Amino acid sequence: MHLLLIEDSQDLAANICEHLEARGHVMDTAGDGVTGLHLAVINKYDAIILDVGLPGMDGFALCRKLRHEAHSPVPVLMLTARDTLQDKLGGFGAGADDYLVKPFALQELEARLQALARRGQAGGVVLSVGDLSVNTDTLQVRRGGVDLTLAPTALKLLILLMRASPRVVSRSEIEMAMWGDGPPESDALRTHIHALRAAIDRRFPVKLLHTLHGIGYQIRAPDAE
Ligand code: CA
Repeated sequence: MHLLLIEDSQDLAANICEHLEARGHVMDTAGDGVTGLHLAVINKYDAIILDVGLPGMDGFALCRKLRHEAHSPVPVLMLTARDTLQDKLGGFGAGADDYLVKPFALQELEARLQALARRGQAGGVVLSVGDLSVNTDTLQVRRGGVDLTLAPTALKLLILLMRASPRVVSRSEIEMAMWGDGPPESDALRTHIHALRAAIDRRFPVKLLHTLHGIGYQIRAPDAE
């Protein structure tokens, strides 16, 4: 496998590289978030090993940028020193695929990477909430067995909200992910939310897209209170 390791601890990075290179894998490494993100965007990796605590840009921010700005489907395994639920949710909310708490066995790291890379080759990731699903590779959107057609911006918004679900995503976070510096016009987000709601909810009795006034938006199944 061609792997990218983003880890600022030189000792740990050397251990991981030594182990994985001995097993025949090709390793690229970065010691900070900005370099790591750059490598992740310009190269095609089978999987990325991403430390949470990094100088400059942390692992959560890097993973969010990778998913929401670069639209990269590359499998991401996050490493963290803390085994807390909040860290775990933060990682998955940012778009990580798996999670390993330090210290870990190098054999386990490799096994997890193999599993992630296999999943990555198997036709992308299917995100689902209730009876709504989206394949992040083919971009096929289905609800209740029906194929739905979405405009590109609504689709991007849907994937962002589906990845975060059931978390509420703030307006500013959505605008940052969609447009970087700011939306093209002040009402742009509202317009796209309207289009998304029309596409995924209008024909269905159960609504999945929720507006939390003054806070943000959320995609949530009715049984996931
Ligand atoms: Ca670190």
